[in-house]
Amino acid sequence: MKGSRGSNMTGVNVEELKEAARREVEQVASLLIETSDWMADNPELGLQEHQAAARLTGLLDEFGADVERGIAGLPTAFEARLPGGKPGPKVAIVAEYDALPDVGHGCGHNIIATAAIGAGIALSRLAGRLPGSVVVLGTPAEESAVPNAGGKLPVLDHGHFDDVDAAIMIHPMTEDTIALNPTLVAYGLDFEFHGRPAHAAANPHEGVNALDAVIVMFNAVGLLRQQVCADARIHGVITYGGGAPNVIPPYTSCRFRVRSPDPVYCQELVERVVACAEAGARATGAHLEWREYMRPYLNMVPNHAIGAVLRQNLEALGRDVQDERSRDGSGSTDFGNVSHRVPAIYAYLGICGPEAGWHSKEVAAATKTERGHAAILAGAKALAMTTIDLLIDDALREQAHQEHRAAIGPVREGLAATSQ
Ligand SMILES: [Zn+2]
Ligand SMILES: [Zn+2]
Repeated sequence: MKGSRGSNMTGVNVEELKEAARREVEQVASLLIETSDWMADNPELGLQEHQAAARLTGLLDEFGADVERGIAGLPTAFEARLPGGKPGPKVAIVAEYDALPDVGHGCGHNIIATAAIGAGIALSRLAGRLPGSVVVLGTPAEESAVPNAGGKLPVLDHGHFDDVDAAIMIHPMTEDTIALNPTLVAYGLDFEFHGRPAHAAANPHEGVNALDAVIVMFNAVGLLRQQVCADARIHGVITYGGGAPNVIPPYTSCRFRVRSPDPVYCQELVERVVACAEAGARATGAHLEWREYMRPYLNMVPNHAIGAVLRQNLEALGRDVQDERSRDGSGSTDFGNVSHRVPAIYAYLGICGPEAGWHSKEVAAATKTERGHAAILAGAKALAMTTIDLLIDDALREQAHQEHRAAIGPVREGLAATSQ
């Protein structure tokens, strides 16, 4: 972007507004930290984040937001419209608050949630001084640990992102970067094999072994891995493998995720994994049933224009933002689906070293450290500051929209071509 954003033609002093937003975050710093630590101590799985959603929406309520709970048919999703909203541009600050089985907040979504709420509270205190409007969207079940994960998909379906000009978020990580690396398209598949029980010693020849079907499938998938693009990922678990060694297992099930950065290629991979399951059924005589246990997450289409502004704001707060993550490898997020609909970006904020491994108890513990707490406040401030830029700077929004249209057009064409 050219020139300074210190002031603009409407006479709004952007720097002064940002300074005010930073001060407002500081005012509620202990409240945000307390809430995040409480979430770390009381983790809830996706779609069951009742206590977290109640607490987060309670705070937004208290600071004057108009909160709608249970949006999109999801009891733990919410939309909080900040006071002072006017017709004009609209920014969505996105919150996640689900935890993981066994490791609690091992992805640090307590920090995402409280940074988003902090930004919302700060901006609600500037009510009337900003053009346009701001919503904080509470989106449950980002982690693919539960059936029907991906709360952002119904929230998208129900139109909550329809008139949004930009969606922004932060996510804790091992260092500060703007999330410009692609994430992976990810499908979630459940397979069930129905066989016939028999006494495993007396008359095994009369049984149809559903466990064998799963084993054939896993072996076939293992061989398939050699024949796929290097950046594809196929990984699964046996969710039920049989009850007793002296019974030929009449029923087994397994769950897979299939991922690739390319949405079209990922669809092809799903077909090939299903073929591996069919091989297991054919070889053993078991009957196969399969379904998607969650809707696909799409790849992230990062918006560089907004990312540059988010980076400037983080740097203005003294954060050391790296150009790239030091470690390769990426996962998947339903924020990718949001990025296919509207210009979107998120920033990673470092809370711990890379030794721990992500999705771990160490990460959950790091959310409660000084670095974890600093990320909440920096995240809240940077989200509020970037929202101010987005609402006031018409050229920035136009640039973000143009970039989005250019990036998303070819993806849509590719997907449309395969579904014909
Ligand atoms: Zn995660
Ligand atoms: Zn996460």
